[in-house]
Amino acid sequence: MHLADRVNKIKPSPTLAIDAKAKALKSQGLDVIGFGAGEPDFDTPDNIKEAARKAIETGFTKYTPVGGTDELKDAIIAKLKRDNALDYARNEISVACGAKHSLYNISQALVQEGDEVIIPAPYWVSYPDQVILAGGKPVFIETDEGAAFKITPEQLEKVITKNTRALILNSPCNPTGSTYSLDELKSLGEVCLRHDFAIITDDIYERLLYDNQTFYNIATALPALQPRVIVVNGVSKTYSMTGWRIGYAAGPADLISAMTKMQSQSTSNPCSIAQKAAVEALNGPQHAVASMVVEFEKRRTYIIDRLNAIPGVSCFKSTGAFYAFPNFSQIYGKSFEGKVICNSTDFAAYLLEQARVALVPGIAFGADKFVRLSYSTSMRNITEGLDRIDTAVRNLK
Ligand SMILES: *Cc1c(COP(=O)(O)O)cnc(C)c1O
Repeated sequence: MHLADRVNKIKPSPTLAIDAKAKALKSQGLDVIGFGAGEPDFDTPDNIKEAARKAIETGFTKYTPVGGTDELKDAIIAKLKRDNALDYARNEISVACGAKHSLYNISQALVQEGDEVIIPAPYWVSYPDQVILAGGKPVFIETDEGAAFKITPEQLEKVITKNTRALILNSPCNPTGSTYSLDELKSLGEVCLRHDFAIITDDIYERLLYDNQTFYNIATALPALQPRVIVVNGVSKTYSMTGWRIGYAAGPADLISAMTKMQSQSTSNPCSIAQKAAVEALNGPQHAVASMVVEFEKRRTYIIDRLNAIPGVSCFKSTGAFYAFPNFSQIYGKSFEGKVICNSTDFAAYLLEQARVALVPGIAFGADKFVRLSYSTSMRNITEGLDRIDTAVRNLK
């Protein structure tokens, strides 16, 4: 078949691919410990499931408005007011089939040939490819663990050109777990105020925050920017609802309307039943989130200490999300049975083959010195997996 050129400009999501490979090995009966998961390992809370059951029973099973029901938009508006001190109207909200879909709609509605989108690296895997699919050019700002994986106002200023269309911020960040403070967001915002481009803030890990931190996004930090900010969020990570596919965007009415138009010619509305469940997630009791955060924080502390105890490994102490992002580059150049490990891809392959541990090579996030381990798995798996990684590293010559 003769395929369109755009297909060859992007790659399949590498994180989903690793997870699939680990699951395939497991289904062959091999004992693989998976650190690849990009989703919470908890069940969706019962009150949310009950809302979905009720939606089915009462026949709420038909098309809804493309950009989501008024009921869900109102729940989102209330959430943005309550948690983020941001005011929005219904025509400034659009619901999509996951936050990934919201981000896709944004890039399709905002970016065209010749446009540049600034993306701090390490970055979430889909940002660059979505920009490329829209015909735009990703412009990366490199960060490292020494800078807590955060960009500075000076770094931002330097890459802005007349073609800059947008900046994407993701805090807490996947893959690094790094979180911007209120002051840091204000200083980045001051730079943005001097120019004219959109700021996309991907707040999907907003509630998965440790060490008693408070969450801020750049619109809350600098209200003067709000007319140019697009807030992206969803229920996947906070409520362990990755399979339900509900995400949303809040932003300027003309952009929201353009995104909804794109969506009207692709997916139409997100699942009606999942929308009812999302209303319950946002409006209902929140204690399941709190207990998930307690468990994640325990695992975070353990996994980071264990990684830092491996000779040659350093791991940044993440403050949010559910990922550890250790630097393994000190062991590059070492070998196992004559096979040299040169980069994060070699290292991940070595661990999968020799230690039966699956994790994601950092190159997928634009950072080849690192690998990503999700601690969205039981403490038992984490302990056993870290034992295996420790042994595998010590077996290298
Ligand atoms: C998981 C994730 C998303 C997308 O989540 P959806 O399931 O599509 O709502 C978006 N951004 C980041 C950084 C993520 O890790």
